[in-house]
Amino acid sequence: MLNIKIEKTTAPKAKPEGKLGFGKIFTDHMFIMNYTEGQGWHDARIVPYGDLSFSPACMVFHYGQEMFEGLKAYRGTDGTPRLFRPDMNAKRTNDTNKRLCIPELPVEDFVQAVSAVVDVDRDWIPSDPGTSLYIRPFIIATDAFLGVAPSKTYLFIIILSPSGAYYESGLAPVGIWIEDDYVRAVRGGMGFAKTGGNYAASLAAQVKAHDDGYSQVLWLDGVERKYIEEVGAMNIFFKIDGKIVTPMLNGSILPGITRNSVIELCKSWGLDVEERKISVDELLEAQATGKLEECFGTGTAAVISPVGKLRYKDDVMTINGGNIGEISQKLYDTVTGIQCGSVEDKFGWVVTL
Ligand SMILES: *Cc1c(COP(=O)(O)O)cnc(C)c1O
Repeated sequence: MLNIKIEKTTAPKAKPEGKLGFGKIFTDHMFIMNYTEGQGWHDARIVPYGDLSFSPACMVFHYGQEMFEGLKAYRGTDGTPRLFRPDMNAKRTNDTNKRLCIPELPVEDFVQAVSAVVDVDRDWIPSDPGTSLYIRPFIIATDAFLGVAPSKTYLFIIILSPSGAYYESGLAPVGIWIEDDYVRAVRGGMGFAKTGGNYAASLAAQVKAHDDGYSQVLWLDGVERKYIEEVGAMNIFFKIDGKIVTPMLNGSILPGITRNSVIELCKSWGLDVEERKISVDELLEAQATGKLEECFGTGTAAVISPVGKLRYKDDVMTINGGNIGEISQKLYDTVTGIQCGSVEDKFGWVVTL
């Protein structure tokens, strides 16, 4: 159990009105905790949201030793704040931390910290359908030292940002660019870790895809550039000949919590789910024979993102006539329903605050 000191702001901000967008508005408070070698994690506190000051020599600025998480608080249909599987974010934090030589954090402490700061700013959780309070926990290396080594001090910070509905005018299929030149991660690298470096590596391809009118990049494996890995900030699923197929976790793919939930749900509905290697050639072949029935991305931000168009070199595949697939829609309705409390939570995924 953390002993969290709470210092409330004396100058609360006005809550935003109108469209919220994503990631630009922040609440009144934030959570901060220090780590010092020999002492462990200490001084857990909730303080007014504001700028922090650092030495320009701070390690995170030079060698990128940092990690982050992303989850949301939802206002239930009954008005109660709800979190979706926060223990999974806590466990994934430790998997990321191990890879980046960042000290681990007890799962209960992570969940306690998230719950405490959301509770202090619970009035900031928006209530319109599809809106939520985005929660961004992150850890940065803070030693003022230019040598290459794991830092001896860290900060764990949680900031909160009210965000609008991902789909302003209903669930809509997106176009995805299968990247055949740049790669995101390789086995043995840090693809499974949620860390800024993976995103820095992804920007050039994302800019290229956007310039061509595609909304996101689908990465291929870094060795043969032949097997499907994942989308920018989403895992990817296909429905091929009646089966739900997704790339297996192989060390270079981020193990999404939405991915895990979708697999559980599909299995509970009696669908065949396969986690395995999927080559681009298999997709092209399935498309040619009419067996590529659906494609969708999964992630906390969009929950389910139906894919209507997939581009690979000179081939452009239109999936399900560019329409939302039946399973994609059912998954979206079910997951968002569980999150806001209108669908029964059979799996015990929701934590109410
Ligand atoms: C966070 C993330 C995902 C999705 O994970 P969720 O836990 O479902 O939000 C997928 N891919 C990458 C690269 C990510 O960073």
